[in-house]
Amino acid sequence: MRSHYCGQLNETLVDQQVTLCGWVHRRRDHGGVIFLDMRDRDGIAQVVVDPDTAEAFATADRARNEFVLRIQGRIRMRPEGTQNPNMPTGLIEVLAKDVEVLNTAATPPFQLDEHGKVGEEVRLKYRYIDLRRPEMIDKLRLRSRISHHVRAYLEGQGFLDIETPILTRATPEGARDYLVPSRTHPGSFFALPQSPQLFKQLLMVSGFDRYYQIAKCFRDEDLRADRQPEFTQIDLEASFVNENDIMAITESMVRGLFKEVLEVELPEFSRMPYSEAMSRFGSDKPDLRIPLELTDVDDLMKDVDFKVFSGPANAKDGRVAALKVIGGAKLSRKEIDDYTKFVGIYGAKGLAWIKVNERAKGLEGLQSPIVKFMEGIIETLLDRVDAQDGDIIFFGADKTRVVNEALGALRVRLGEDLELYTQAWAPLWVVDFPMFEADDKGRLSALHHPFTAPSCTPDELKADPASALSRAYDMVLNGTELGGGSIRIHDQGMQRVVFEVLGIGQEEAEEKFGFLLDALKYGAPPHGGLAFGLDRLVMLMTGAKTIREVIAFPKTQSAADLMTDAPGEVSAEQLKDLSIRLRQKAKVDPTAE
Ligand code: ASP
Repeated sequence: MRSHYCGQLNETLVDQQVTLCGWVHRRRDHGGVIFLDMRDRDGIAQVVVDPDTAEAFATADRARNEFVLRIQGRIRMRPEGTQNPNMPTGLIEVLAKDVEVLNTAATPPFQLDEHGKVGEEVRLKYRYIDLRRPEMIDKLRLRSRISHHVRAYLEGQGFLDIETPILTRATPEGARDYLVPSRTHPGSFFALPQSPQLFKQLLMVSGFDRYYQIAKCFRDEDLRADRQPEFTQIDLEASFVNENDIMAITESMVRGLFKEVLEVELPEFSRMPYSEAMSRFGSDKPDLRIPLELTDVDDLMKDVDFKVFSGPANAKDGRVAALKVIGGAKLSRKEIDDYTKFVGIYGAKGLAWIKVNERAKGLEGLQSPIVKFMEGIIETLLDRVDAQDGDIIFFGADKTRVVNEALGALRVRLGEDLELYTQAWAPLWVVDFPMFEADDKGRLSALHHPFTAPSCTPDELKADPASALSRAYDMVLNGTELGGGSIRIHDQGMQRVVFEVLGIGQEEAEEKFGFLLDALKYGAPPHGGLAFGLDRLVMLMTGAKTIREVIAFPKTQSAADLMTDAPGEVSAEQLKDLSIRLRQKAKVDPTAE
């Protein structure tokens, strides 16, 4: 039907006859001549229809925004003075000979260039219109290039694309499962995969050696900001490898991706142990573009006459840390109050600070509500954080977890607010994660997942699980975890010990993971892998503000699809087939909490 995409036209095609198909982006009537800006996925071209071609002119006259047209005409240079060098097709126009309406369009719920005026709900409800916007098309096009590159790279490295089931059993990745009731097995449920983890390990047992898949994963998580209940992973696994092999393969994949798609040469990927990341940055995904660090000052605060500091400094699970911000003394009272509120979100009860106005003047030169308690240690403190005139020092004092989360988030926020970034891209590997984390009651859960190999023996693990480290690794870029993986347990005995430590008894282990434990008996090779969050990767590479911008049909924060109105009610008949009786009728509005 068409000879060219609108966006492909340029001055090299002058005098050629072309046929365009697309949507009317804008129609302008200029005293007898009609201009149609025709749009398709590749861009916009200006079409001129003049009254000499009476039939075409009459059709163009009836056309409205978003009508679907087919236009035949000749390309010519735009007259001097009307050229638009900022537009790829801005030097030329198409003089229409024939205009055909392929379909009319009702007035759209929003004009494409006025999408900002309607709420996101409207854009999501009419997503097919929102996706006509060039910015949206660009993002999805980039997404397609990214997955194409990834596939080509992995195929080149000998990875095989193998699909794994969607109707399956629970795979523990730390979230709630989406369940699907079985009709043929009344009362039984499938779980949608939180990841292809166990299947990819079984493929290694089969001997496929290298597997990958661009896989949909499903996690019914609490409504944390910017997550999607279904998301996409670049999932891979390889046999006879150690952590260095997996890190090398995937680092080179990401490096190549940035080079090819963004023409960006990523800097060296450094490696940082988890413990160092937590102590220096309060986060296991530190944003290394920001030159701010947490400094431990517990030892100095043990004896100060200020309980807020001395308490955590003396507590086993407490931490007192300082965060110095160069030039931060210029922050206003109001800004500091805002930051105090901000750290409150992370559980911090306050935000103590010292402004260093003139260090040479001693206490006099400092401005702070707390400095009076610190007379004896102030010089050591200022030396330790290397405070200079004009700096501000913030403090966190609480349980270690609260201090890390609060100061870690404050560090990122300050980096953004004060534009402290020292580089555009800061990639790193975080390694040497603990095997387990303890909840408030001391119960252990796997920090990565229960199939991750520890870096110690089964006996050492049993003796002191809380301090065991794992062979897991995360790739972090600009404060975002791009992907994570690990070397897996390939020994049945070790797998049993890990289940035991996690409080999964023999019987439960057999019931839930019997197939894995069995497989580990039949010649499982050493293996490991990693999964990248594709959505997040695309988000970073496109500079999108939310994950919803890089997914064609995303869900809202409350896990609903406003366009199809899913989740929705089902008929009594369907429920009966599934042997399900509802205790509560569905709420009418799926977005209602
Ligand atoms: N299955 C893991 C995840 O989804 C990734 C991996 O260990 O390969 O986080």
